[in-house]
Parts: sequence; C-alpha cells; structure tokens
Amino acid sequence: MKKLFGVIGDPIAQSMSPQIHNDAFEQHNIDGVYLPFHVAKDALQTSVKGWRALGGCGFNVTIPHKVKIMQFLDGVDQDAQQIGAVNTVVNESGKLVGYNTDGAGFVKGLKEITSFHEKNVAIIGAGGAARAILYSLSKENVEEITVANRTESKALELIKSLHLETLANASSILQLEETLSKYDIIINTTSVGMYPNEDEMPISLSFLKKNCVVSDIIYNPLETKFLKEAKKQGAITQNGVPMFVNQAAIAFEIWTNIKPCNTRMEQIVMEHLGGKTC
Ligand code: NAP
Repeated sequence: MKKLFGVIGDPIAQSMSPQIHNDAFEQHNIDGVYLPFHVAKDALQTSVKGWRALGGCGFNVTIPHKVKIMQFLDGVDQDAQQIGAVNTVVNESGKLVGYNTDGAGFVKGLKEITSFHEKNVAIIGAGGAARAILYSLSKENVEEITVANRTESKALELIKSLHLETLANASSILQLEETLSKYDIIINTTSVGMYPNEDEMPISLSFLKKNCVVSDIIYNPLETKFLKEAKKQGAITQNGVPMFVNQAAIAFEIWTNIKPCNTRMEQIVMEHLGGKTC
C-alpha cells in the first residue's frame, strides 16, 4: 500500500514541499505520496485525528499550526519541546511524535559558508523562525547572540523562555544598527523584504563589518534588498533556500532513515522559484 505523507497549513497552495518530497520518494524507490492539505485553524485537531485514523506516515506542519499542534500529538521530541514548535510529525507505531527541523536546517545551511567559532551573531526578529534558529545556534560554539526586534519586549521574552547554552541579549533595532560593526554574522528572520514588499529592509546596514556573513531566511525574492545591499558592501550572503532544503532533508530522513540528495532538492526549489543553481 502507498505510504501517505503531506503538509498541513493555511495557506498551503504555494508550498514547494510536495515537489521535493515526491521526487525524493521516486529517487529512493519508496512507494509514497506527499500531498498538501489545506487545514484551517479550527480544523487542526480533527485533521490530526484523521491522520491517525488513516495511518498516514508523516507530515510537515506550517503556518499557522506549528505551536498549537503540539497539544494534539502523542509525544514531542526534546528539542521541539524547548523550541515550542513542531514542523515535522512522524507516525511511530500509531503514536504521532513531533520534531522541529527548522533550526537544525538553518544551522546546517549556514555552516556551508561559515564557521560559528567565537562569532558574534545578531538575529533580527523574534517570531517562530527566530525561536528555532536562536535555540539551534546556541548549541553551536558562538561567542554571543543578540536578538533585535521591532517589539523589543518580544526579543527579551524569547531569550528568557529558552534554556540557552550561549550568552544572549535583547536589543532594539536602532541599537543594533548603531553597533552593527561588532557582528560577524547577521541573520534576518523577519518577513521584511519578502514579496510583494521587496523595497523594504529590516535594518540599515550603514555600519556593516567588512567580510561579515549576512543571511536572510526569505527565499521569495531569492535575493532581498537586504542581501543585495550587504553584498554590495562585501559581505558573504545566503538566502533562505538552504534552510528550506535542509529542514526538508532532515524531515525526510526522520521519516525514512534515508539521507536525500540536497542538491537535487535545491534544483527543484530553484526551478520553482525561477532562479538558477550555481
Ligand atoms: P512570525 O512568527 O510571524 O514572526 C515575524 C517576525 O517579523 C516578528 O519578529 C515581527 O516583529 C517581524 N516583523 C513582521 N513585520 C515587520 C515589519 N513590518 N517591521 C519590522 N518587523 C516585522 O513569522 P516566522 O514564522 O518567524 O517567519 C518569518 C519569516 O521567515 C517569513 O518571511 C517566512 O517566510 C520566513 N521563513 C523561512 C523559512 C525557510 O525555510 N527559509 C522557514 C520559516 C520561515 P514583531 O514581533 O514586532 O511583530
């Protein structure tokens, strides 16, 4: 019998996950199908019950269900529990167990272009993605992490709520802009600059340190104004595609115990987004 996989969210039509996972099933001769399911907020619990009843294997969870779904699962992995959000669920002998692969996916992607050892890191934003990234980065060997957010109090709340293994502090956007030259790695986790608001930047880059690394987890557009500006000033930049591909690859491995081909996944994503892989 075909194995059922999928992604639940609202909206969901734009998701690239079905293409990359269905291709990976084909590549590894797995008789599986991965489908998008439009699940509204008030239908979340019923959809989880339905998944259990159908004996579906695994599914991804996206906006707006990543936090609320935790209460409907049979178990949640320790990292996902700490992060407070689940983006991957696996059916372990009838029990639905939640994981979070967003933060690990981000860290794996960024490691391709930089080391973390003794680096001073700034995270812009304090939402769901920032939460997963902050938690995962704190397990790396970084010197210090600053979280700057439009609503500064949320940055402080985020830091306090996580049991971090690294020194972390909260900042206002203005404070970050004025002290930018002390950061080796700067990560935008806000939606500022995302299509259709492509002219926006989350912070001013006037005091950017030479040769620093600037990452933007947005992948539509592939190169935000923030990244273009950072590149102009000589920074090494990375967009949101590596995070997206790595979180999907880790989820695939959780479901199947097989490491999929990241390059192939990236090619599919880039074709979908109308870009070219180098
Ligand atoms: P979220 O929980 O809603 O958080 C949004 C964050 O952006 C908050 O810190 C919010 O600040 C800030 N923000 C929103 N509009 C702003 C504005 N106009 N000016 C300043 N700050 C603003 O969202 P999320 O789930 O973390 O997702 C954030 C972004 O990451 C989205 O663009 C999403 O597509 C992207 N993402 C990418 C991947 C990937 O795989 N590459 C994975 C997950 C998410 P306040 O607290 O002040 O409201």
